[in-house]
Amino acid sequence: MADIGWTLGIESTAHTLSFGLVDSNGIPFPSVSDTVSPDQGGIHPRQAADHHKDVAPILLDRLFEKNELKPKDITNVAYSQGPGLGPCLRIGAAIARGLSTKLNAPLIGVNHCVAHIEIGRQQCGCDDPVLLYVSGGNTQVIARLEGRYRVLGETLDIGIGNMLDKFARAQGIPFPGGPVIEKKAAEWLAENPDASMDGLELPYAVRGMDLAFSGVLTAAQRLIDNGKSLGAVCWSLQEHVFAACVEVAERALSHTGKTELLLGGGVACNNRLRDMCEIMAEERDSESFAPPRMYCIDNGTMIARLGWLEQKSGRNTALDESAIDQYLRTDQTPIIWS
Ligand code: AMP
Ligand code: MG
Repeated sequence: MADIGWTLGIESTAHTLSFGLVDSNGIPFPSVSDTVSPDQGGIHPRQAADHHKDVAPILLDRLFEKNELKPKDITNVAYSQGPGLGPCLRIGAAIARGLSTKLNAPLIGVNHCVAHIEIGRQQCGCDDPVLLYVSGGNTQVIARLEGRYRVLGETLDIGIGNMLDKFARAQGIPFPGGPVIEKKAAEWLAENPDASMDGLELPYAVRGMDLAFSGVLTAAQRLIDNGKSLGAVCWSLQEHVFAACVEVAERALSHTGKTELLLGGGVACNNRLRDMCEIMAEERDSESFAPPRMYCIDNGTMIARLGWLEQKSGRNTALDESAIDQYLRTDQTPIIWS
């Protein structure tokens, strides 16, 4: 195949449209992104798709300007093929097809979840980790087994980030609620260093190797309705749901015999979760890794990185195979790179 120069990555699975780059050696360059912020309510797929369509030209210009590149410098175009919200994915795929055709740059559709793993491996220098992938729509514990990234455990209902955002929204906190919950929990803990769970208990989210968050969401709201302070409930909510994720991740390390834990997804920006993972890993002579925050949230750079890995290994996506797949599974993508 022709030499790879700059690979453009296009991310559009949900709330964020993002363009990122890797160079000919697969070295990542920070993304240019914009996230839809609804005035009220949650994210509506069509509204998010309209947002992506509207901001795309501005973002792309900004990316080129920032990196002093011209469109013709792009030799390869990667995009998120799934999983995600249909209308949002379709915008990203349409932009990718258009650019690929115009620039005569081979196209590669990639798996969004796998991209989170690969940017994490690149950034953290870990080799064969168990991934704790905690984002808005997804919560999965993943490990490489027999040539695929296998989902060893996952949420049975909503993603952990969606749960945090829904709880926040019910208290009048706009999207994204996760960072505000983190701040309120930390502030409350600083004022209540002897905090105990008395009166702040919530259901435990672990179901075997899987997780479930909707019951915790209802119970946390009930604590608020019964007069508990918002800070106290934010703290308890984080402690309960992060402990559940860490427990499943620990079991995955134990079952697979792996010794590296890697965090990914927007909720992996959370300091308390990062600390809990480090404590757990240390206790079992393992290591916990967390990529820089700009590569935890959805970003085009991780899409470019996985596109680069796949195209270097000889895979391309023909136009007639470029349709999006809302339900693409992590284990549907064979790992053809090292
Ligand atoms: P993603 O879907 O991977 O882009 O991540 C977005 C999700 O990450 C949203 O649900 C946010 O509320 C959540 N999030 C972002 N930062 C934090 C944080 N510091 N603590 C908890 N959740 C967070
Ligand atoms: Mg994501």
